[in-house]
Amino acid sequence: MNSKNNMKYIFSHWEKFSLKIKSSRQVFLFLDYDGTLTPIVSRPKDARLPISVKKIIKELNSSPRFTVAIISGRSLRDVRKMAGIRNIVYAGNHGLEIERGSGKMRKPAVSYSRPLLKSIKLYLDAALQDIEGAQVEDKGPTLSVHFRRVSPESRARVKIIFHDILRPYIASRRLKVTSGKMVMEVRPAVDWHKGKAVLAILGASKALPVYIGDDVTDTDAFLAIKGKGVSIFVGKPKKNIKADYYLKDTKEVELFLKQLFNLL
Ligand SMILES: [Mg+2]
Repeated sequence: MNSKNNMKYIFSHWEKFSLKIKSSRQVFLFLDYDGTLTPIVSRPKDARLPISVKKIIKELNSSPRFTVAIISGRSLRDVRKMAGIRNIVYAGNHGLEIERGSGKMRKPAVSYSRPLLKSIKLYLDAALQDIEGAQVEDKGPTLSVHFRRVSPESRARVKIIFHDILRPYIASRRLKVTSGKMVMEVRPAVDWHKGKAVLAILGASKALPVYIGDDVTDTDAFLAIKGKGVSIFVGKPKKNIKADYYLKDTKEVELFLKQLFNLL
């Protein structure tokens, strides 16, 4: 079932990909964090970046031809702390917060939705307090409800409670919700996502964008660079996800980064 529209396993098409890298003067490498650089773990704070991955990212970023950005659903502060690499670009909250060198950028909608999110966190905390393993995380401009540690039979209840509380705010277009792997998120209702963040970070740069990510939120970025960059999905190829290539897991992402470095 390998039609032309399906993503290709990058190591089986290495020559074509490497030619693209070799013929580009500048490469802008965008990396998602959880599920891409580190395996998904039950407690988000345990998702440490392996030393070997950190090392190869630093090496790539120190090449004059490469710039590296880590773009995550985590808050900016959190992803910066988890990765712990200096002199790269960081984007948190799916790009609502961007930090590049000493410059910081926040979408204006972020500050006005803050008091609203604070009160919603209180409602969610109260409504979910009896459900073992449910966790409401305050990420500044956004909120996350994690349910990976909730028993499978209670997960539906978490979703019902979440949507019941959020419904009026979505209807009045003040907030919007998105979902990822065992997480539901509340964010300001602005038309902004990882794809727009990638384009904002690229700016007028002529660099070749290469984006690697494992989740639904990454598909906005795949779409944004379609035709002008290279998109790489991490995981088993899925019909609803359109990327140029795929890698099977985080171990293969590490191998990919090493091979990429060897092309320099
Ligand atoms: Mg991810």
